[in-house]
Amino acid sequence: MKAQARSEEIERVCERITALGFKPHIIPGEQRTAIGITGNSGPVDPAEFEDMPGVAEAIRVSKAYKLVSRETKPENTIVRVNGVPIGGEEIVLCGGPCSVETREQILESARVVKAGGGQLLRGGAYKPRTSPYSFQGLGEDGLRYLAAARDETGLGIVTEAIDVETFELVERYADCVQIGARNMQNFSLLRRAGRSRKPILLKRGMSSTLEEFLMAAEYILADGNYNVILCERGVRTFADHTRNTLDLSVVPAAQSLSHLPIIVDPSHGTGKRDKVLPMSLAAIAAGASGLIVEVHPAPDKALSDGYQSLDPEQFAELADDCRAISELLRARHRMTAVR
Ligand code: PEP
Ligand code: MN
Repeated sequence: MKAQARSEEIERVCERITALGFKPHIIPGEQRTAIGITGNSGPVDPAEFEDMPGVAEAIRVSKAYKLVSRETKPENTIVRVNGVPIGGEEIVLCGGPCSVETREQILESARVVKAGGGQLLRGGAYKPRTSPYSFQGLGEDGLRYLAAARDETGLGIVTEAIDVETFELVERYADCVQIGARNMQNFSLLRRAGRSRKPILLKRGMSSTLEEFLMAAEYILADGNYNVILCERGVRTFADHTRNTLDLSVVPAAQSLSHLPIIVDPSHGTGKRDKVLPMSLAAIAAGASGLIVEVHPAPDKALSDGYQSLDPEQFAELADDCRAISELLRARHRMTAVR
């Protein structure tokens, strides 16, 4: 739609789409609104819409991931989590422990993240663990402790839903619901996320291609939730010097195909504390919209992923250095724009 299109004009286009037997998707943008069409089995004639008031252009989307595609919406999507914009000019840092362990531990983690310059708090209350004998998370108690940490620090909370059964409980407490790598193709969970009104952080499956990743995001948008943040967290390769191979080349690749913001998880992406800072800097330099990083008040005592968790000083250093890289790049871009 044109930037100045009125809401009645948007409505009229949606009515025509519905009258044709298809489903309209209003995807709001900062400048313009895009309206996606799904439910059609063959091509729809752009002429159906081209002459309608408020319409800027009607385009056929060639990609299978229609709503996620930049063809549908050329401008970047900005997703707001507890008021924090992700996908805009400024990078966003989300920090916190792998798991919520105790009330004190998550409160202390939140203070560390806030003091270090982070904007969002992470922490799992439901944990997808490889072994059924490993710590599985505190469940609803964990969610309550996260909410207490938000009350004290004002940090928005990002926490994982591992199944459809507990999704509702998680979304009640969370500011952003994470879908983990192991669930990237759990289609019933993706559909449930699509019916949520909370933003979704979708992590890339550990052996998924970019197209599979974008198709997973498409499930969420197709059911009506357009606030999806992509997250690269490393993929399985033959390399064994790290837990996973952080695929930073997916950042510009995803940005060229999709309008959704993409952030990077250097903690699961490397699995080693000493690799987290350098790969964070690389992720920001590559254009990621932010990072989700594991940080723990006492990493060596953590109940999960301690070996890849930063201590408070390391997190503060990472936040400082990442901001410096981001500001340097932004200043240079401004200079080129002026020249
Ligand atoms: C996590 O964020 O703690 C987590 C389990 O992530 P992933 O799904 O990427 O393994
Ligand atoms: Mn973890």
